[in-house]
Amino acid sequence: MDYQAVLQEVAAFARPLVGRGQVAQYIPALADVDAERFGIAVADVNGEVHGVGDWQEPFSVQSISKAFSLALVLAEGGERIWDRVGTEPSGNPFNSLVQLEYENGIPRNPFINAGALVVTDRLQSLTGDAGTTMLEFLRAESGNPDVAFDPVVAASEAEHGDRNAALAHFMASYGNLDNPVTTVLEHYFRQCAIRMSCRDLALAAAFLARHGVRNDGTRLLPAREAKQVNAVMLTCGTYDAAGSFAYRVGLPGKSGVGGGIVAVIPGRCTLCVWSPGLDTYGNSVAGVAALDHFTTVTGWSVF
Ligand code: GLN
Repeated sequence: MDYQAVLQEVAAFARPLVGRGQVAQYIPALADVDAERFGIAVADVNGEVHGVGDWQEPFSVQSISKAFSLALVLAEGGERIWDRVGTEPSGNPFNSLVQLEYENGIPRNPFINAGALVVTDRLQSLTGDAGTTMLEFLRAESGNPDVAFDPVVAASEAEHGDRNAALAHFMASYGNLDNPVTTVLEHYFRQCAIRMSCRDLALAAAFLARHGVRNDGTRLLPAREAKQVNAVMLTCGTYDAAGSFAYRVGLPGKSGVGGGIVAVIPGRCTLCVWSPGLDTYGNSVAGVAALDHFTTVTGWSVF
């Protein structure tokens, strides 16, 4: 496969959609990002990396971090996490509260905010420092020691974090958090505020294409748990648009409101695309179109 040529073709296809949609507005640090950016990178299972456009420019990973925190919790603590968070799509926006009361404080899945808060709580209990654990993992896998939290974004998240605080307190009232709400929120906001490029993210998520094996050849997850992460990414990774994402792209994918999407082709490669304009569900408009075109051109959807 001539990845470079395919990525160029995909970027040309997505170009007319770059700037469409709306850049995330809920914090100034994200609202200020240039909507005209577009980058895409691919890391294959042998560690080869290719990219086009703004593929080396760092952006705010936001909810893409939820895939890494889930993987790290499975690696550190195994499948007991599934007693505290479900594996069903929510069909509701990522920051919704409505289902929590009916389901006794057990979030529908680990990729809506409520579920990610539980996963972060568990990672904190398992490691004593959830944020640093994730940062170290991402630096190691990307080979980029400069991967870091953006303190301005993290502070802004906290300042505008009433809804996430409400979710955390509500789950705490059901006994589904072990650490203080303030600790869980602090680590959750920090992980959302990590800045990485498409290149860094494609490499960092390569273990999901390698059935759990890291870039240095050691194993992060048993194949069964890598399968679980990929499956939940497919069904829940793009929130209440996961059905349409599966239908259009046909890959496990995890999006973030910074405009990034990581997508996995098990056994072959990991992709990361970035363009900040979002649809009403919070997924990158040009990013989804680019991944749709990639699987159409290559025939590499999981279907
Ligand atoms: N930091 C954002 C929030 O918690 C992340 C949401 C997202 O990327 N979908 O609301």
